[in-house]
Amino acid sequence: MSGADLILRGGRVLTMDDSRRVVDALAVRNGRVLLAGTDAEVAATADVDTRVVDLGGNTVVPGMIDAHTHVELTAYARHFWTDIRGRSATEVLARIAELTAERAAGSWIVLQGTFGQDLPTRADLDAAAPAHPVAMRWSMHKQQLNAAAMAASGITRRTVAPPGVRIHRGADGEPTGLIEEGWDLLGWRPPVGGELRDALAETLRELFLRNGVTTVNEVLASAEGARAYQDLAAGRQVPRLGLALTAAPGHQPLVDARDFATLGLRTGFGDDRCRLQAVKIFLDGGRDGAFRSGDLASPAGEWGLLTRTPQALAQELVAAAGAGLQVWVHAIGDLAQECAVSAVEQVATVHPGLDHRMRIEHMANEMYDPDRLRRLVDAGGIAVPNPGFVFAEPDDPARRLPPGATKYGLRTLKRLSGLVPGNSDTAGAQPFSCNPWFVMRCMVLQENRNGVVVSPDESVTIDDALAAFTRDAAYATFREHELGSLEPGKLADLAVVDTDPLTADPRELDRIGTLATVVGGEVVYGTLP
Ligand SMILES: [Zn+2]
Repeated sequence: MSGADLILRGGRVLTMDDSRRVVDALAVRNGRVLLAGTDAEVAATADVDTRVVDLGGNTVVPGMIDAHTHVELTAYARHFWTDIRGRSATEVLARIAELTAERAAGSWIVLQGTFGQDLPTRADLDAAAPAHPVAMRWSMHKQQLNAAAMAASGITRRTVAPPGVRIHRGADGEPTGLIEEGWDLLGWRPPVGGELRDALAETLRELFLRNGVTTVNEVLASAEGARAYQDLAAGRQVPRLGLALTAAPGHQPLVDARDFATLGLRTGFGDDRCRLQAVKIFLDGGRDGAFRSGDLASPAGEWGLLTRTPQALAQELVAAAGAGLQVWVHAIGDLAQECAVSAVEQVATVHPGLDHRMRIEHMANEMYDPDRLRRLVDAGGIAVPNPGFVFAEPDDPARRLPPGATKYGLRTLKRLSGLVPGNSDTAGAQPFSCNPWFVMRCMVLQENRNGVVVSPDESVTIDDALAAFTRDAAYATFREHELGSLEPGKLADLAVVDTDPLTADPRELDRIGTLATVVGGEVVYGTLP
């Protein structure tokens, strides 16, 4: 038997295995972990061809796994839109004036802002850009359009909003240009081919590989994106990809929910570089469009936004489970979460004993009732909260939605289910969330951007946070047998970092630097010490 291809020694290796072994050295052969142990044990696996690297006291962690993100939308924001995050309304208008001078009339101007940002009014937009369609994004869930953008998108007073979409209107019935959950209605079209592929590659490299992320689970935004990911995965200079197909009705639909049983593709189709992970169903909207029990006291037209009935959701989940497809259900409001949990309970009833791991995305961001979380866990489901969003929470608890809910119930979730799958879930509004060390800091400190602690009782330990982005995210994607810890036989995905996170000051977590990112035993970012 031949020896190791690569040995990393002279450092600390956090295996993140069940007993949380910390060892000195690691041996890799054929892209997989051969041994994790003492320098002497690992040295015994060497032969004449082995590359031996001295870690110089640096730390090795398992490659980070992002369980849910939107690389394609983030790449659009990074490469094809204009970043206005943190800019005042006056600065934004000045930027629009520059862009209208540079671009031909009729060409789109898309501006990426962030949650809760004060942006110019519709009247200011119309005055600044009478001949250019302009869309300002607070997030994927909410945009403001000018008159030219509505004309270019064919949105008029006669436009009927599709299920789950809200077109805001004035007292006169005319659309105001404020759109919720309706990005797909816009006439803006993403670039295609090499231009898109290069943007995705750059985004995967600079926001993910650079931060030690070796597996990205991506909510696909277009068929063109799906093609580009397959090309990029073949080149092996990107993280491993788990792709989620979005189901109609909802954002950027690629598959009809009625097709689950006839597609013939199961979770895991593909290979260990690029595979089908899940289908994603948007059930309700974002923060403003969440479906909450308080809505029931209002006229139905003012309720949160639902894309389908609870009965339809349950049928879709049962069909997907039967087909072997994992589903990620986007559900933010408590009533949406109740519908989603009930649907997962129906899966457990119809398919008893099936290891389905149906996921509810964003659950526990707004935690109303720990018992609902327990029911999900008992039914074999997984809650995937997004702790990085704590950063954007208002200082004033009264302004956090909804009043009275516990935000980011991470400790409760860890206690009930044993896992808090790590993820960035950004579509351009918070690209820094792609750095898992930033999200881990949020998990441990529960602080917003101004240092206000949002949920002091729901913080978790650094070990829990590191487990979130390794073991827990692997389990949430059915990959715990090959990813998530550094144990013999598992894929050799790892990051060499300049600080041992387990002994770091939590305030310094987001400053941890990645020296090298290794996928399948090959360095894909940085250099080994
Ligand atoms: Zn998302």
